[in-house]
This record gives sequence, C-alpha cells and structure tokens, in this order.
Amino acid sequence: MFRHLLFGLLLFATTAYAQEPLKEDLAPCGTIGVSDWLREYRLRPPVVDRSEDTLWVAIQPHLLAKDNGSGRIAAEKFLSSFCQLNEDFAASNIQFYFKYGWNLLDETDWYAHEDIPQGIEMMLTNNIPDALNAYFVADPAGNCGYNLPYAGVAIGHNCSGDNDHTWSHEVGHALNLPHPFIGWEGKTYNFAQPTPTLLTYDYTYFHDTLETQIPAPLDTALVELLDGSNCALAADLICDTKPDYLSYRWDCNTQNQSLAKQKDPTGAEFYSDGTLFMSYALDKCQSRFSPEEIAIMRATLLTEKAAWLTPNRLQQPVEEPAEAVEPILGQLVPPVGALFTWKPVPHATHYLVQASRFENFFFKQVDLVTTDTFLIAGQLSANQNYFWRIRPFNDWHACAPFGELFTFKTGAVSKTSEPDAEGWRCYPSVLGTGMPLTLEIPETWRGEDAKCTVFDAAGRLVWQSYLSLHAPRMKVELPSSHWPSGVYRFILTSNLGVKRASLVVEKG
Ligand SMILES: [Zn+2]
Repeated sequence: MFRHLLFGLLLFATTAYAQEPLKEDLAPCGTIGVSDWLREYRLRPPVVDRSEDTLWVAIQPHLLAKDNGSGRIAAEKFLSSFCQLNEDFAASNIQFYFKYGWNLLDETDWYAHEDIPQGIEMMLTNNIPDALNAYFVADPAGNCGYNLPYAGVAIGHNCSGDNDHTWSHEVGHALNLPHPFIGWEGKTYNFAQPTPTLLTYDYTYFHDTLETQIPAPLDTALVELLDGSNCALAADLICDTKPDYLSYRWDCNTQNQSLAKQKDPTGAEFYSDGTLFMSYALDKCQSRFSPEEIAIMRATLLTEKAAWLTPNRLQQPVEEPAEAVEPILGQLVPPVGALFTWKPVPHATHYLVQASRFENFFFKQVDLVTTDTFLIAGQLSANQNYFWRIRPFNDWHACAPFGELFTFKTGAVSKTSEPDAEGWRCYPSVLGTGMPLTLEIPETWRGEDAKCTVFDAAGRLVWQSYLSLHAPRMKVELPSSHWPSGVYRFILTSNLGVKRASLVVEKG
C-alpha cells in the first residue's frame, strides 16, 4: 500500500521552493459545512464523557514530494508541526501519534493539486484505515488546508511549522467542528449593509460522504445573534463560540479580538474572538478550542471516530537531549563517508541529524532521519569547519529540541584512496549512474570465491552477489540506478577476510 515507509533513513531536500504558494496568497481553509453527526449530537443528549483521560489518536502522515522526490516538507519543520499540534490539543486531553511512521509519496499532481477532486483522489488512493490521514503538500488547491470528512486533511507546507495552527484547525474540522462563521465562507461581511438572518452556502465536496451531485444543492445557516438566543441552532451550533462573520484572514488587537466591528441581524455590535483555532484570525491570535468544542471533539472520538483511538497505555516521552560521541571538538573527518555516532536517548526511536557549515544551519549538507545511533555522511566539502546536531523523537513525542552543537572539520579530498597493505582498493568512491565499480584484488586472494554485499546507510542489505576472484582488477556492475542517492557500504567477504569501502551514489 505504501510506496515507501520510513523505517530507516531518509534524505530530505531542504532547499526552499519558489513555486510553493506563500501563506498570504492562500485561502485560510477550504472546508465548509456542519456534519450530520454534529446535528445529531445537538438533538440527542450528548455522550457523557466525564473522564479526564488523555485520548490517544492515530494520525497517518503522508508527506508529498514531486515525482523526482524533491520538495518534500523538511523533517525539522514537520516535527515542529506535530509538536505544535499536540501542544494545541493539550488542553483537550487529546494527543496524536504516528500510526505507521511517515508515508512518503512522490507524485507531482498531488504535491501541488489545483482542485479538490485531485485531493480526493490522492486521499482515497493512499488512506490507511483506522487513522486520521494527514497530507502535507505544497499547494492544497489554493488553501492553507482543508478537511474532507470521508477522507482526511490536507495541509500546505507554508502553513506548517511552529506557531502555525492550520493542522489543529483542520483536525478540529475532522472532529466535527465547523467554523464559528459558517455560512460566510466566500462572502465578505460589510458593516454598512444590514446583516441577513439566513445565509446559503455551497458545500460541494465537504458533505459527510462523497457527493453524488456536483455542485451539491446549497445549504443554509442561521446567522448567530449576539445575545446567544439562537446559538444552538445558528452558525456552528456551538454556544460558547460567539458570533463571528469574518471569513477572511484577519488581524486582532491586544485582547485577540477582531479590529473589524460587526453587527448581528438585530443591530447588536460585537468583535470576533480571535483566540479560537477554528476562526480565521492570524495564528498569533489563536490559542484555544472552547470548552464546548472540546466536548464535541472528545465525544466524536468516543463514538464516530472510536477506531482512531488506541487503548491508554503509558507513553514514554523523549525529553533528554542527544549527546554526540564523535566527531566532536573540531575532530578531523574524511570529506566522504564520515561516521557520526551518538549515545541513545531514552525512549527515542528516531533521530534527525543535521550538519551545516553555518552555525544557524541555514543551509544543511546533512539532513537525515535514522533509527540508528550512527550515520555515514555523504559528500561534504573538503577542508571546512562544520556544526552538527541531533533531535531525538518517537511516534508519540516530537517536542524534544535539538541538543547542543558539536563541531568537526573535514580533511582534504583524496582522489583515489591508496591500496591497503594487502593491495585491496575499490573505486570510484562517488558512483554516478551506470558506472561500474573497480575492485583491486589482493594477490593472496586470487582464486578465492567471494561474496559482495552492499548495505545502505541505515544498515539494510540492498544487494549481494558472488564473485570468483580470478583477476587482479575486476569490474562489478551494481544496480545503483535503482538506489536512492546516498552513502552505501561495499563489503567483500572471502575465506581470507573482509574488505570494506564507502560508496556515494549520485543521481545525474
Ligand atoms: Zn476551516
């Protein structure tokens, strides 16, 4: 089902992509509507949820890149987004964990999709059951994000990261919360005009199930009054979210209220509450779900979305910073195939490792996620000072920061390494597409049968073959065009011993 899953090590592109739409150019959210579940919940006495238990909810992230694998959200930004999501939901006692790690998808048409039907196709093709499926893309149909009740949420790269609440907003929708200004989507409130008592809106693609009629018939919403008299029937059907008619991105004052004054159909004047994640206030204004919103989300998880919950168990947080073993204190390393090692951090299952020539890590030459406590770097610049750092995490806790900065220095480039004492060497160390590997066979090894194996930097066997060592120089054709770019270990084993070499596979 998954094209590739994160178990070992991944390379993340860290370049900024000019074609990604900026947040200011995106609509805040594409979602509209009130679910049938919420209408039912209003009519029937709600589920009694007196517990304060933390509800652990399975999330399945799908991180989209272009067909060539470029453009995916940086691992660091994604971890920060996930940490922010759990911080935003902490007051609800709802917490999220990655169900099956991160699913990586390379598909340009989904990575930047122009319309909702393409997003529907992306989700229905890749969703996994019993989880809230979350898709991180460069452009979610011109929005910062949206939620399809029957499929999942989509989030734009430029609406992700620390201090961005788009993911929380869309998960709010997925747990049956409407916008407090429902009905005003696509309309611009105008104080100079009388406020209507009823609004109609086009809800196509956002009903509880896939549309059978496109466009869907218009829906209607009562406009909420300031005195609260129609709050259970009007707008979002939620009484502790006060009237709000602002369906564009808006700034707030120091009390986190809208600068724009509004008046309800009776003429009563008010300002919108920007603290709500479900409003369209700027991220800096937002800080909460209302108590009634929290009750609705918890009731949703205990009924309609019970399959997303995992039984409570003790989840071990990752809190301690990682400590490097080597290289540290400016140690000298080779520019190709440098080995980085660190001490395991309690409860961490993954580590994000970055190395940069710049102390602010503006440009990163290593940006990798691994499940090990070591990694072998690819090609670094020769004769340079470097900084490196480690961020530990697991599927439940992504809020541990990077630890301290460690330093190292790269040596000079060696064109072809010298043969070892027995006469073994292997080249080139940087292997372009279709290039064979040349082995120089120690004289004492000639006539032996040997096994050739190649492991990737995460220690997975990617290739093996048997070779009769009949000549002083032998060429080995590796299927490296099928391998991702990165560092590999080549190992030649015979009865006489083991010879090793580091290889960097580069895609031209
Ligand atoms: Zn929304």
